[in-house]
Amino acid sequence: MNIEKAIRQASKFLQQNCISSFILDSELLMSKVLQKERKYLFMNIKEEIEEKKLKYYHNLINKRATGKPIAYLIGKKDFWKYEFKVTKDVLIPRPETELIVEQVLFYCKNKSKLKVLDIGVGSGCILISILKEKKDFFGVGIDKSKKCLDVSDFNSSILDVKHRVKFFNSDIDNFSYGKYDIIISNPPYIKKLDLKYLERDVKNFEPELALDGGIDGISEIRNVVRKSSELIKKNGKLFLEIGFDQKHSVMKILKHNGFHINKVLKDLAKNDRCIVSTKIE
Ligand code: GLN
Repeated sequence: MNIEKAIRQASKFLQQNCISSFILDSELLMSKVLQKERKYLFMNIKEEIEEKKLKYYHNLINKRATGKPIAYLIGKKDFWKYEFKVTKDVLIPRPETELIVEQVLFYCKNKSKLKVLDIGVGSGCILISILKEKKDFFGVGIDKSKKCLDVSDFNSSILDVKHRVKFFNSDIDNFSYGKYDIIISNPPYIKKLDLKYLERDVKNFEPELALDGGIDGISEIRNVVRKSSELIKKNGKLFLEIGFDQKHSVMKILKHNGFHINKVLKDLAKNDRCIVSTKIE
């Protein structure tokens, strides 16, 4: 079978299985199987595929049809300006999370040598993107999942910031190393009872540890703010990702812990998504 026909059949199958990006996904998986860039496919549509590779392709397509996210199948995801390794143990980097990177860069335009802490570092996408932009910043990433740290450590090597970052396998309650100018976090913020209403691709495949924000959805945010208030320097800034309906409750927690709210930003879907605050007392 040639490339064109294999992709056409696979797209049809994915479409029947309710995968909305059925063409793109069929192409991305073909690129993976042939270990070629996507444009190679368009220039060689009549090329015959070896039997072994075709089997592998069908295997991946079958997995995609069950809802397994494309990022886990190809093992990588673009975020900010870089490509990050991802495994099933980390949350897949999302475009709305780039808001944190954007805001850190905005507030640190003329700053040098700042220390940045990422609480729940996951794949490392936020912290590493910041370190790539600010060549003399130093980073610390913590996560309660050891497997996440293996991924963020790998990403820090491949993206060449390993010498400026340290990772610790710890939950926030037991962490007390250092004082920071900047703290960033995309903590789990989905209400426990809402987890079952997430999209199939998310709820069946992404780590619950990175999504479950407890009964009220803000249990982890509360912990992050409380502990950040001890770990942050006076006038240091905290950048948090939040759920679409959490603005008021999180602002209250921040104020209660001595933070002044600088701004609340919306994502492209016009949902409140990121809060920037400063430790003032
Ligand atoms: N934005 C993610 C989602 O909606 C949730 C990320 C998180 O809980 N930190 O799937």
